[in-house]
Formats: sequence, structure tokens, C-alpha cells
Amino acid sequence: MHFNPYLQDINSYQAGRPIEEVMREYGIAREDIIKLASNENPYGAAPEVLESLKENIHTANLYPDDSYYQLKSALAQKFNTESSNIIIGSGSDQIIEFCIHVCAETNREFKILQAGVTFAMYEIYAKLFGAKVLKTKSAAHDLEQFLEISKKEQPAIIFLCAPNNPLGECLESKEIEQFLGQISHDTLVVLDGAYQEYAAFKDESKALNPQRLLHKFQNMIYLGTFSKAYGLGGMRVGYGIASQEIIKMLHKVRPPFNITTLSLCAAFTALKYQDFTQQCIEKNFSEMRIYEDFFTQYNIGFIPSWTNFLTIKDSKIDSTQLCEWFLQKGIILRDLKSYGLNACRITVGTNEQNQKVLKLFKEFLDSMK
Ligand SMILES: *Cc1c(COP(=O)(O)O)cnc(C)c1O
Repeated sequence: MHFNPYLQDINSYQAGRPIEEVMREYGIAREDIIKLASNENPYGAAPEVLESLKENIHTANLYPDDSYYQLKSALAQKFNTESSNIIIGSGSDQIIEFCIHVCAETNREFKILQAGVTFAMYEIYAKLFGAKVLKTKSAAHDLEQFLEISKKEQPAIIFLCAPNNPLGECLESKEIEQFLGQISHDTLVVLDGAYQEYAAFKDESKALNPQRLLHKFQNMIYLGTFSKAYGLGGMRVGYGIASQEIIKMLHKVRPPFNITTLSLCAAFTALKYQDFTQQCIEKNFSEMRIYEDFFTQYNIGFIPSWTNFLTIKDSKIDSTQLCEWFLQKGIILRDLKSYGLNACRITVGTNEQNQKVLKLFKEFLDSMK
């Protein structure tokens, strides 16, 4: 058989280990497993969302309204823009794929540019379409390096992840705007705002305003998701906001019915009940403080975060050993060795989950002595 030759060079995305696998492999009961590996919202979705899913379960036999009229209108209102500036994806992940797909040229080399350590899917999708992947030397986002490389290499797409997964750092919105002003109009700049709700809460200077950016720059797209702050990771809904020209192109590669009828219902309802989301975000940062205090007290290095996760980065700790040790206790963390880093990402859980993690962390530190 003949496969796409570009696949040779691609490693499949390593998702956080699923609960079911840990149950099987370690013989741990489901209720004793805590998954803090995929940045899911530990408080779940708003009760109204669950209610609406129950009420609409009988529509499972029907395809959704493929125009996503209701959801787009609600998003347009939220972001003070037009439905024609919005595309819906099966997670914002799918829109990342669309962006690369519409820029890919089979008969000419095209390049993408990203931070040294950032969301793994940019590289995976880019390689799938034969792109050359350029990275800044620094792991975290350094816009001077981005600018220098893009002047020299003229990438088709630049990915900025603000805040950045898996490190947690976040660019200032002013910096991003200045950067957009200096980038060639031929380059598409993808602003991945998967954790923007968290960043905006913690720090107004990090908050991106898609509508404002859209008016100033025709060559950018802002990506948002319902998977993190809205607690709908399992429903797979994301959105992109960009000029009508870009949105039109993206629609050409979008498969029909790319969101399920129930996902649509969940996302629409989640937008209506944003108080719940705000409460989750507030709790996230008060819980994060508990980790920060603990790590400071025990002199463990971590990266300050504008997201719902914290990344431990400390040369005294081998991240693989740490994650494996926790896994045996039923706690799933994310080792970042596959990103070339001796670091471990931990999603901030509920208070009960975090207390358990920190109690075990003390045990781990004792075991190292
Ligand atoms: C989680 C995440 C996404 C998208 O997730 P979806 O579930 O596909 O919407 C995109 N970018 C980053 C950086 C993420 O962490």
C-alpha cells in the first residue's frame, strides 16, 4: 500500500493517559483515580448544560443545523462581531487543521513558525500537509525571535499560543498587537486562546479582544474552545474568529456536520450560563495558590501560570520518575519529556483532589531523601 510519505515523520499525539487504562494496568479502582493530565475542568459543566443535554437527548438521530446559526449568533454577540466572522470546529483543534489545510501548497514548500515548546498539534498537522516546522530557540514565546525568523523565512503561518500550553506563560495583548503590526500581510497569524478565559481573569493586560484585532488585522485568526473553562472537553466544540475572507476559505475544507447535535446544544447553553464558568475560573486560581505556596515552601521550581495548570520544572526532580510514582498512586499527571523537557504539567483540580496530590507530593519528596 502507498501511504502519505509525510506520515513517516509524524509521531501520534500523546493524549493524557485515560482513566480506564490506569485502572487496567495498575489495578486501581475508578474512584481512586484522579486525572490531572489533560487540563479538563474538574468542576464539570454547568448544571444547566447537563439539564439541556438530558432534555435534548431525543434529537440524537438528527443531524445538527449545519450552519450552526444559534451558536454562531451567540458567539457573535459575546465577541461583538458578525456570524460571518466565525467558524465552528470539532474542538479548536480541528480549526488548527483547517488553517494549515487552506495554506498548504503541494507544489511549493511552505513553513510554519511556533515557539520552541508549545501545543503539539501545530507541528503534527503541519507535517501532515508537508510543511517545514520552524521553532524559536527559546521554549517560551519570545516575539523578537519570532520576528527575526519570520523576516528571514516568510512562514505561511505563525502560531502564538497565549497562554501557552504546556508551559503556562502568557504574552501581553499589547505585545501581540505590536507584533501583528510588524508581520507580513501574507502570513496568517493564529492566536490560540484556549486558556484566554483564565488569563483574562488573572491579568487584564493578557486579555485578547478578537473583535479589535480583527478590525486592525486581516491576516489573523483567534481560536477559542469550550473544552477548558466551559468544562466541555468531551463535547468537542471550538470556534475561530477572523476576517470573512479567511472564514470563507476555512469553510471550504470543513466537513459537514462537524459538531454533533448534542455538542451544539451543550455549547450554546454553556454560553448562556457563564456565571458557572467564572466561578470555576475563580476557584482555579485560589487552588493554584495552594500549589504555588507548597512549591515555594519546598523549594520546587515551577513556571508561573495564566491557565488551569502548573508546570513543575526542577532539575532536582526527574519528571518521568515523578509522573510514574504518582501514576502508581492513581494520579495521572503529564510528563513533558516528549517535548524535550524535564518538566511535569499538572492540571489544577478540585480542593479535595489537590489536597490529596500535595499530601502525596510530601511523601514523594520524603522518598527522595
Ligand atoms: C486544549 C487546547 C486546544 C483545543 O482543544 P479542543 O478540545 O480541540 O478545543 C487548543 N490549543 C491548546 C493550546 C489547548 O491546550
